[in-house]
Amino acid sequence: MTSRPVHLFFSSLMPGGLLFVAALLLTRYPLLPPSAYDVLPWLPYTIFAVGALLSWRFNRSRILWAMIVLTLMYGALSIYVLGRGNPSGTGATIFSAIALLLPVNLVIFSVMKERGTTFVTALLWIGLILGQLMIVAAVCQPELEVFARFLRHSFVHSRGIGLTRYSQPAFVAFALGFLVLVVRFIWSPKPLESGFFWTLMTLFLGMNAASTRQTTGLYFATAGLILLFSLIEMSYHMAFLDELTGLPGRRAFNEAALKLGESYALAMVDVDHFKNFNDTYGHECGDQVLSMIAVRLAAVTGGGKAFRYGGEEFAILFPELSARQAIVYLERLRHTIANTPFILRGTERRKSSKKSRSKARHKHPNEVQVTVSIGVANRNQRYEEFDQVTRAADRALYKAKESGRNCVKA
Ligand code: GH3
Ligand code: MG
Ligand code: MG
Repeated sequence: MTSRPVHLFFSSLMPGGLLFVAALLLTRYPLLPPSAYDVLPWLPYTIFAVGALLSWRFNRSRILWAMIVLTLMYGALSIYVLGRGNPSGTGATIFSAIALLLPVNLVIFSVMKERGTTFVTALLWIGLILGQLMIVAAVCQPELEVFARFLRHSFVHSRGIGLTRYSQPAFVAFALGFLVLVVRFIWSPKPLESGFFWTLMTLFLGMNAASTRQTTGLYFATAGLILLFSLIEMSYHMAFLDELTGLPGRRAFNEAALKLGESYALAMVDVDHFKNFNDTYGHECGDQVLSMIAVRLAAVTGGGKAFRYGGEEFAILFPELSARQAIVYLERLRHTIANTPFILRGTERRKSSKKSRSKARHKHPNEVQVTVSIGVANRNQRYEEFDQVTRAADRALYKAKESGRNCVKA
């Protein structure tokens, strides 16, 4: 099993980091056929359009609006900045404004909650985007030269900052943007979070190289591709991971079953008296406990892999073990769950019975205790089919419930 830091590291690199390195290599080594370079300036529009269409169909508004903002900013760069050597006047102002607004927009898209695209949110975003366009257009007017100068102002004189094309306000915006996106990824390591980070990274290089249409086109196209891939990966995750617990769900369980070899053990885990628990503490607390149990189950040893089978039932597959061997690890799990209390977050206890109240008097006010029953079976000559092993594990679980719960039976 891989440790959390290693897992974090790899999931942060895939696939955004890979695409970023590919773009970097392609700008250093012209490996593409010459005709491909003619397409590069137009490629970002195609990718942004595909990305916008897909995210609209998948109801992912954060990516949809990111694609629209990227299209507009790339369009403005193409018209006013690219192919003009070292632009001054309007070109330089537009460059500085975009360099400042890009990280700000991406960070907002990354941290905002996914709410789908409704009429009201669409109006709000169109307003915000038009507002930004109007501000950029306004600061290009000679009367507002003072604001344009502020965009390019140098607050400190440092050679490090001078190595890039960015003005200091834009450089600071990028630096803060990176910081927020890294913290956000560590906090919630999901495909979209890593996607936004690598998109910003690619755009940082892309804007810095904003002199030739080809190089900038390549970087912006890569940024669009990274977001597009994170959208696809996120959809894959949604199909295979259970939303509440984060464990792989029933679909993933069925897929894992196809890959099993000749010998394996399967355990079915069921929370005891969970209906009572819901009645006492409320469904929301029930959900919290399921998530906390899932964390314990995910840490199962012995090469086991935990899945949310459905409701308050979980399954654990041990691809290499017999039922007898798996019992050792399952007993450990059962014991940990029964002996470590769960602390509920900010939810008031509901309808707590006299008995549970008196039991809880000496504990943390939101502390609860649950137990699980486990049934385990393995593949053998009698049960060769996966369905038969599942039914055997179910029967063992029933035995565990009959024997008074909070135990493991084979
Ligand atoms: P037993 O010890 O025999 O397993 O008793 P039980 O009450 O756990 O068994 P039963 O199957 O009758 O009830 C399961 C309950 O689990 C019913 C339902 O309210 C609850 N449950 C199922 N899925 C969820 C869920 O996603 N969230 C919450 N909060 N409760 C759930
Ligand atoms: Mg049940
Ligand atoms: Mg139950």
